[in-house]
Amino acid sequence: MAYPYQIKSLEEYQENYQQSVMDPEGFWANVADHFYWRRKWDKVLEWNFKDPDVKWFTGGKLNITENCLDRHLGTLGNRPAIIWEPNDPEERHRVITYRDLYNKVCQFANVLKNNGVKKGDRVCIYMGMIPELAIAVLACARIGAIHSVVFGGFSAQSIADRIQDAQASLVITCDGAFRGNKDIPLKSVIDDALMGCPSVKKVIVCTRTRTPVSMIKGRDLWWEDEIKQVETMGNPPCPAEEMDAEDMLFILYTSGSTGKPKGVVHTCAGYMVYANYTFVNTFQYQPGEVYFCTADVGWITGHSYIIYGPLSAGATTLMFEGVPTYPDAGRLWSIVDKYRVNILYTAPTAIRSLMGYGLGPVNHKDLSSLKKLGSVGEPINEEAWHWFKDHIGKGRCPIVDTWWQTETGGIMITPIAGITKEKPGYATLPLPGIQPVLVDENGKEVKGNNVNGNLCIKFPWPGMLRTTYGDHERCRTTYFATYENLYFTGDGCLRDEDGYYRITGRVDDVLNVSGHRIGTAEVENAINMHAGVVESAVVGYPHDIKGQGIYAYVITERQMHDPELTKKDILQTVSRIIGPIAKPDKIQFVSGLPKTRSGKIMRRILRKIAEGELDNLGDTSTLLDPVVVDEIKRGRL
Ligand code: ATP
Ligand code: MG
Repeated sequence: MAYPYQIKSLEEYQENYQQSVMDPEGFWANVADHFYWRRKWDKVLEWNFKDPDVKWFTGGKLNITENCLDRHLGTLGNRPAIIWEPNDPEERHRVITYRDLYNKVCQFANVLKNNGVKKGDRVCIYMGMIPELAIAVLACARIGAIHSVVFGGFSAQSIADRIQDAQASLVITCDGAFRGNKDIPLKSVIDDALMGCPSVKKVIVCTRTRTPVSMIKGRDLWWEDEIKQVETMGNPPCPAEEMDAEDMLFILYTSGSTGKPKGVVHTCAGYMVYANYTFVNTFQYQPGEVYFCTADVGWITGHSYIIYGPLSAGATTLMFEGVPTYPDAGRLWSIVDKYRVNILYTAPTAIRSLMGYGLGPVNHKDLSSLKKLGSVGEPINEEAWHWFKDHIGKGRCPIVDTWWQTETGGIMITPIAGITKEKPGYATLPLPGIQPVLVDENGKEVKGNNVNGNLCIKFPWPGMLRTTYGDHERCRTTYFATYENLYFTGDGCLRDEDGYYRITGRVDDVLNVSGHRIGTAEVENAINMHAGVVESAVVGYPHDIKGQGIYAYVITERQMHDPELTKKDILQTVSRIIGPIAKPDKIQFVSGLPKTRSGKIMRRILRKIAEGELDNLGDTSTLLDPVVVDEIKRGRL
């Protein structure tokens, strides 16, 4: 059996869950035993949530790349590790076996060493979705350098902020990146960013788009030239650096939906065990299956579920350079068809946008290889869930609605594919090792079922963040100071009569209308059910009588004949689905919503607009399209 810790039935889930609560150390030690350690740990766990100070597998020595690469070479050396699908479907795809990947990682790790990168140095990676991105990430891990991947769509200022925060000494980038019909000049953005970043001594540039770039003497180097250099040295091996279990593996900045991005820090051993455990269990991965996660490696989903989770499990992970709507809205389905994809993991925002194109792009695509579907990033509204289930999964594939965060390192609350009975809109049950609690505003635990509260976790799990880079106090105040002895997620949550969890949105986004607590996600879900609505975002604003009023921003499919009538219809729909209490007080039709580059709605900006604070929108550096904000401001009711 490939994964002895893979859960195979609901009974086994329950048993495992019980054991993980009664004896967490024994439980995780059993899982960790199936990895390759240079030296086993002395102690499984030491922790307090006050400082906070959390350590897993102390005294253990390992390197995550030996677990992702070396240990598979004997059995899986010729199996595909990465299948890469380029942006342009006419261009040749690439298949990289575990042996190829191992060789390339070692080679590039030697490039980094030749350029003076040492264990503990920070390396910023700003690339498009090409295999060299995965190679760069793993090469850093190989030599113990701390990677900080920045999504290849951020502006020069956002990159500069992140480079300065991490004091990175080297940047790895590309000349440019292809995304849909765009060609993003990555190197030129880096040049602008570096004007204010004296810590950066070298920039390694990988060729992809052949966009003309300026190469600064003494600072900028071509990836390909550096590789040649290593070849001239006779391609020496690159032994993995021995890392302490709690040495830093990477820094990743959160997407900034709720404020200034935080540099979340993950460490080597706990993160590895957790990413692998959650991958193997949630998706019920079976050896040989082709797994396709549509996220970008610039987000935590890409770190844990394109790179580290799948590769540590010896899986085949598909990496896609482009976007779901290029060259047409059937692109994802063509990829599934072409590579006989078995597992597809994507985001509600992608599903909703593809739904808008109807079934034309889905028809005539052979999706029969699909066995399991997944969703992550935000609450998935029921309409999108059903569309995904019926038209993509053809009613036979389980959907895992996975709730988790950059800070949690891996999936926390989710159905286990094919094992947990699913319920649309619900992340359902916690994975073994995860102890969720709901608390009221006063920090008192709300027990039992059919209750609402702020979602917290009361016991450590191996993949949790250890600190926020360079500012431990920020980590403490953001996550551990709101409620004593609890990790606070920032999300609101409902536990229903079956003990199933449903995320209702950010706590900041929970509305209090005439004393009733209503999640923005619930109202949006109801609005989205109305025919013709593509997407909506709901926020609260001060209301003389109700305390808080509900302000809804709504995108509709096409030109409306009678917008006032459509508003009334939407109110009817909300009234019927949730109740009259949840009816929006104001509905503004918009053509787009302010989103982060990872596709999340920035409700804090919409809230400011609804409140009339038009000049004080806060940090907008991670905003995808600032133009929509101006339009929304102008149309404010
Ligand atoms: P920041 O912390 O900077 O505001 P962010 O929270 O958007 O950014 P992420 O860590 O990428 O950054 O997102 C985690 C959040 O995404 C969760 O806290 C939750 O609100 C939301 N989320 C993720 N998956 C789900 C899901 N399956 N259901 C509901 N919400 C989800
Ligand atoms: Mg967050």
